[in-house]
Amino acid sequence: MKVNQFIATQWQAFRAWQEHPISYRMDESEHVCNNCGHTFRGNYCPVCSQSARHGRIGWITTWQGIAQLWGIESRSAVYTLWQLIWRPGYLVRDYISGKRQVSYPPVKLLFILAAVVTIVRFFFPIPDAAPTQLGFEYFDLTSDWLNNHRNISELLSGCIFIIPTWFLFRKAPLYPNHTIPEGFYLQVYLAILSYIFYTLFTELYGIAFVLTLCYYFIAYKQLFGFGYWGTFWRLATCVVLSFSTILIIAMMGILISTN
Ligand SMILES: [Zn+2]
Repeated sequence: MKVNQFIATQWQAFRAWQEHPISYRMDESEHVCNNCGHTFRGNYCPVCSQSARHGRIGWITTWQGIAQLWGIESRSAVYTLWQLIWRPGYLVRDYISGKRQVSYPPVKLLFILAAVVTIVRFFFPIPDAAPTQLGFEYFDLTSDWLNNHRNISELLSGCIFIIPTWFLFRKAPLYPNHTIPEGFYLQVYLAILSYIFYTLFTELYGIAFVLTLCYYFIAYKQLFGFGYWGTFWRLATCVVLSFSTILIIAMMGILISTN
């Protein structure tokens, strides 16, 4: 019984965190701004916008300076990834509905991740993917380039989801009438996840593919709020439409290559 209660409490705490992960508090004490000398109450100087926490350079400042370079700052890139794994749809809804401070800027995050992966690969190289050899020059070149720039190809294939998603999910109960730009940001977040999966499971594309599909389902369900079946059939239709589009683009690529 006690174990059950413990699990139930933990689950409720987790669900509460999923919906509202961050609480903000106003710093009521008085500060003198180290930058412009203005006296104020609050977290930031209202005159020059320097943080009340900034003072003389110390060890923490040095760490923050280095961390900032790598995008590990207050809107931490690491905490954004953590949220993306445990509350993907809620994170996207927070960000696109105006709560910008909950997340590291997602487009920047996708490219920083690619830079980190490139550096790691420099020290721990993996064998190059076998070059595409269908015999169609431009098609093979494009295909190789996309294979070697997975962050961009994940984002591009995500973009093909934008229009079907808008069409099928625009009457969603929890986030009705989402716009095309909002749909783009949803795909950026999902591209970050699939990029991570395809990087971790380089040799096992099947696992990465299944994980990506699962995360699409979880994110769409949390963001739009249709039921399990409602989310499933809409998303399945999106997948079919998007893959058909990719197929048509590939066929056109082959046709252009043969001319
Ligand atoms: Zn100031």
